[in-house]
Amino acid sequence: YESKEQHHSVTRYKESNNKYSVVRLSLMTELKQAIEEGQLTLNYQPKIDVASGKVVSVESLVRWKHPEHGFIFPDEFIPLAEQTGNIRHLTHWAIETALQEHVRLREIGFDIKMAVNISAVDVSDLELPPFVSNLLEKYSVAPSSLILEVTESAIMSDPDKAMLALNMLKNMSIKLSIDDFGTGYSSMEQLKRAPVDELKIDKSFVLDLATNKDDLIIVKSITSLAHNLGMTIVAEGVEDNGSLTALRKLNVETAQGYFISRPVEAHILESWLQDNNGVFKS
Ligand code: C2E
Ligand code: MG
Ligand code: MG
Ligand code: MG
Repeated sequence: YESKEQHHSVTRYKESNNKYSVVRLSLMTELKQAIEEGQLTLNYQPKIDVASGKVVSVESLVRWKHPEHGFIFPDEFIPLAEQTGNIRHLTHWAIETALQEHVRLREIGFDIKMAVNISAVDVSDLELPPFVSNLLEKYSVAPSSLILEVTESAIMSDPDKAMLALNMLKNMSIKLSIDDFGTGYSSMEQLKRAPVDELKIDKSFVLDLATNKDDLIIVKSITSLAHNLGMTIVAEGVEDNGSLTALRKLNVETAQGYFISRPVEAHILESWLQDNNGVFKS
């Protein structure tokens, strides 16, 4: 379905490689206030079961509606939030907001899992598991309805600490997902140790899946590795029907991408689900 989500933000400031540019410095100081003033918002992108088209979960993705710069995308301010100690606040806000939306979807008849991205800083924060536990209780959400997505590189930055926190979350029955898989440097040793349910293959391997033989071999190999380790596969970056067809042939369980839907505002997701009975038909 259609959405006008576009990248027209402060990206132009990226051109100066100086990470201490005036704009960046002011964004850093504004972020905390932005959260408090409600300038951050979550968009939601469905993930479908490849075989049936049924929406099985949605991923929440943060956007900053900046009063002067317009929409700012997370790649520009998540690193700032990490550097300035604001990421915990942002993560807490994101998990609570996403759980509220999960409840809303359940109320309109769609009991689907909600995925939230957490950063490297969060994954070694031993206060995160009890925080999440309180929220699940507050909103009466089953822990297995929450998926936390952690990038491969976040786990690798301090594997021992990450494994500790991930095991705490896993023991609470929360679902865990390794994001952007294939772009970091996981050793097989860490992959074996990580208590994760799902691997998300990075979009760089999925975008040209229908035409690129190397990508096909890579996706096929990652899928067989994940299945043999008892994990399921999500392919992100599905931009055309060719990729979706290829994924079906490879027995990949779950797909996500612009071909199915862009990340959209909550009310757009809700009406789409209602209009389509929660099923994507290509
Ligand atoms: P991610 O978790 O890997 O999310 C997937 C990104 O790919 C999203 O970018 C999404 O809009 C984009 N995408 C989805 N489908 C397609 C497609 O078919 N083609 C292409 N080219 N792109 C697609 P977005 O929303 O800009 O987010 C970028 C990254 O920022 C995320 O990558 C995630 O690592 C991080 N992020 C987003 N929201 C949060 C959050 O609430 N907390 C934290 N800590 N990180 C977040
Ligand atoms: Mg993600
Ligand atoms: Mg990803
Ligand atoms: Mg990513």
